[in-house]
Amino acid sequence: MDEAGAAVTGLIAAGADAWDRAGLLPVDLLRGLGAEGRLCAQVPAAYGGWGLDSAAAGAFTAHVGSLCSSVRSVMTSQGMAAWTIERFGTPEQQAAFLPRLTGGELAAAGFSERGAGSDLSAMTTRVRRDGDTVVLDGHKVWVTAAHYADLLVLFGKYTEHEEHAERAETDSGAGSGAAGGDDAVAVVVPADTPGVRVTRVADPLGCRAAGHADISLDGVRVPATHVLGGAALPLPLLVTTALAYGRMSVAWGCVGILRGCLTAAARHAATREQFGAPLGEHQLVARHLAELYVAERTATRACEHASRCWDEGSPDQVVATVLAKHVSAGNAARGAATAVQVLASAGAQDGHPVARAHRDAKLMEIIEGSNEMCQLMLARHVLSSA
Ligand SMILES: Cc1cc2nc3c(=O)[nH]c(=O)nc-3n(C[C@H](O)[C@H](O)[C@H](O)COP(=O)(O)OP(=O)(O)OC[C@H]3O[C@@H](n4cnc5c(N)ncnc54)[C@H](O)[C@@H]3O)c2cc1C
Repeated sequence: MDEAGAAVTGLIAAGADAWDRAGLLPVDLLRGLGAEGRLCAQVPAAYGGWGLDSAAAGAFTAHVGSLCSSVRSVMTSQGMAAWTIERFGTPEQQAAFLPRLTGGELAAAGFSERGAGSDLSAMTTRVRRDGDTVVLDGHKVWVTAAHYADLLVLFGKYTEHEEHAERAETDSGAGSGAAGGDDAVAVVVPADTPGVRVTRVADPLGCRAAGHADISLDGVRVPATHVLGGAALPLPLLVTTALAYGRMSVAWGCVGILRGCLTAAARHAATREQFGAPLGEHQLVARHLAELYVAERTATRACEHASRCWDEGSPDQVVATVLAKHVSAGNAARGAATAVQVLASAGAQDGHPVARAHRDAKLMEIIEGSNEMCQLMLARHVLSSA
């Protein structure tokens, strides 16, 4: 393990269980990690980041993921916010916001709404231009790290003027509530802006300390210079670009979960004896270990391939990322369940890393493109080349 990995182990490993139980991460720790550029390590050095490529950032993400999925989730959100600013922001916006994200401020990215989960085109959050400001109205749900965030990168449908907004709502059909059209924007909103209300999601199944929260936006006014790129873009382009970063980060985080589970299961199977022999010598338990090893290796390979595609700018990048996310999340969910099986009562309680991994990994099959959404995207890819 390199120096950065060892340092982060010292900061996170001992606290992960207590933070999970408390449902909170120490904010000073997050700010400290952020101020060292660790929460969004791909941001270029010119903006205070480490300028890591996808493969190196992935290795670091996996390491953090092996220790604490809540911290890794905060990293994913910070990185996704930074990536969105990097990809869509003007040079002035990059210079204004990125050093804040590598300087200790925390960020979250909000797409999802009550009526718009898998189908983000159903988003109804509206961003309306008003002179040299924009006004946001709407409601985001389950935004990771929003509880801790200073800056929120929020996605909404865009209208130039109030009258356009009204017409769009009428055109979109009775009851749909959609702002109409496919033009969308990503806006950087300071979390303390009047009209922003952040409410924690109660008792999440896993990643309990990741600060998931709902965000309501009631006439939230920010300067128009906070609209990334200063103009509307097609919604699918905006969300796909931002989510691609999140997918890659979650995929590597799942590799970390698998590594933690493999280590715990192997150690237990080598040392605990039943029927006069270590568990690992009973063939059905040995099979569990083999399956976990295969799960970790295949997820690692899928992530390495996808990161290589990112680093080489390969046209296969999008599909490779979806594949990596799908393989890693599924393997992590099944692998963590297998690890609990190997440890049995020893791992079946809050306080054991495999119990935490089991809860955390399940959620990875839902976010940044659920299993089903990933399968649909992969099937579309197959069909497009038939
Ligand atoms: C831990 C966690 C962290 C999150 N973090 C964030 C965040 O940081 N920012 C953010 O904006 N959102 C976040 N979310 C929200 C997340 O993006 C959504 O939960 C996800 O997109 C799924 O939406 P949904 O929960 O509304 O499920 P639904 O869209 O209602 O789907 C329910 C089920 O139906 C399946 N399904 C839906 N449509 C189809 C279809 N056409 N074909 C086949 N199956 C289908 C889904 O795959 C799923 O299994 C987070 C959620 C969780 C649980």
